[in-house]
Amino acid sequence: MPDFKNFIAGAWVPPSAGAYFENTNPADTRDVIGRFPQSGPEDVARAAASARKGFALWSRTPAPVRGQVLQRVGDLLVKKKEDLARAMTREMGKVLLETRGDVQEGIDTAYYAHTEGRRLFGRTVPSELRNKWAMSFRRPIGTVGVITPFNFPLAVPTWKIFPALLCGNAVIWKPSEDVPHTASLLVEILLEAGLPPEVIQLVHGGGDAGKALVEHPDVGVISFTGSTDTGASIGATCGRMHKRLSLEMGGKNAMIVLDDADLDLALDGVLWGAFGTTGQRCTATSRLIVQAGVHDRFVKMVADRALKLRLGPGLEAQTEVGPLIHEASRDKVEAYVGIAKGEGASVLIGGARGQGAGLERGWFFQPTLFVGVKPGMRVEQEEIFGPALSVIKVKDLDEAVAVNNDVKYGLSSALYSRDVNAAFRALNELDNGITYVNAPTIGAEAHLPFGGVKQTGNGHREGGWAVYDFYSEIKVGYVDYSGKLQRAQIDTEI
Ligand code: NAD
Repeated sequence: MPDFKNFIAGAWVPPSAGAYFENTNPADTRDVIGRFPQSGPEDVARAAASARKGFALWSRTPAPVRGQVLQRVGDLLVKKKEDLARAMTREMGKVLLETRGDVQEGIDTAYYAHTEGRRLFGRTVPSELRNKWAMSFRRPIGTVGVITPFNFPLAVPTWKIFPALLCGNAVIWKPSEDVPHTASLLVEILLEAGLPPEVIQLVHGGGDAGKALVEHPDVGVISFTGSTDTGASIGATCGRMHKRLSLEMGGKNAMIVLDDADLDLALDGVLWGAFGTTGQRCTATSRLIVQAGVHDRFVKMVADRALKLRLGPGLEAQTEVGPLIHEASRDKVEAYVGIAKGEGASVLIGGARGQGAGLERGWFFQPTLFVGVKPGMRVEQEEIFGPALSVIKVKDLDEAVAVNNDVKYGLSSALYSRDVNAAFRALNELDNGITYVNAPTIGAEAHLPFGGVKQTGNGHREGGWAVYDFYSEIKVGYVDYSGKLQRAQIDTEI
């Protein structure tokens, strides 16, 4: 079994305490991918010292040149797409179609970052005084700590690392302990593309390593994606230490289907939204809000098709739904089946572990439909993060909007309707960072801002142009060429 290493101070190195954890294939736990470093504060401290040197070099490199490195990263991701997708499916479980999409998102993000190297705009505005110039421009900040979850092993890290690098920062990355292999492969690509070694540090490990990174005084910026609970504890530390922080956390995303919807279209959308990635997307459709006129018919359509979804290892061509990430995840989904029943909802299909040949050694769970769910029930309010969909019947769009908005999360939502007025009302009234019309709750594109409101986020966005604001410091410069003292707000003309 191979032992993997951290990447610190320009070299692949073992963890300082010599401790490792095992990384196994969630579709077949006999398949051990390798042992990975269980890092701690000492490893983080070494990484921070090296990142400081990396920053000194990289922050002085012209942004277009930094962009060219990211262009090469994109080229390498294109070249290695299939190998990366296979490695990712092996360690994370989702089907190959989806891990190929995961790599593609990294490619798109790399090429966007490349072009941003020649934009990275500041603004020049008129001064209120004569013979004076006023402008704003961007500066790199320093060392960015990146902490990522398991469900998009490559895409989510690239959303953070690529713009952070393009803006001239050094990065220390603590990837999810569930998908460390993909992280090692991505760092190899960054190095192969010509990134100066000390600009990127990879520190493997679990929550303790993440905590050490958040607490290190030299790491002034933290970008975290993961659960809302973990985000809350990181937020407390960053608040106390005055760190710049971007949080992307949980969701309880709803798809609304109105009486006038194209039900076949909505059916394809809900199956992809709810059961793709085995329900382990932050944007997964976990609530289906259906208007009364089509409720019974549409629920039957969903149940009939969901029953036919093929469970299996993601590397097998016929598989449509892979395993959950680990045993605790499966236990959690299973517990929600009991919670749903206890609250008076019914389990229409699924509700049990995957059974049958090929499913014995992985964390499989059947696509599950909870019906008769009422607003306020725990399966309607809490993030389950598995292949479980709660169906809520409503009388009209007003009630649908109220149900959608009455949760603590606010990432994504979807409306299926042929009524243009309903579509624009949904865009305006659904309390989410993203709303799709006639498309499921998933499918964000890399060149648009991504993020959620309420307890999903803390006001920042990833993706597109917006993320570059997070990773750069805006500085303002004034040049007075009048040759005399001019006092703003005092030497007024009118
Ligand atoms: P998690 O919170 O368990 O772990 C995320 C990362 O935080 C891991 O790298 C983990 O090691 C680290 N961590 C754990 N405790 C820590 C601590 N005390 N200090 C610092 N780091 C710590 O999340 P997960 O199970 O890997 O991912 C699933 C969650 O991520 C879901 O809630 C999902 O909705 C969310 N998610 C959100 C988005 C988004 O953009 N909003 C995207 C993907 C996933």
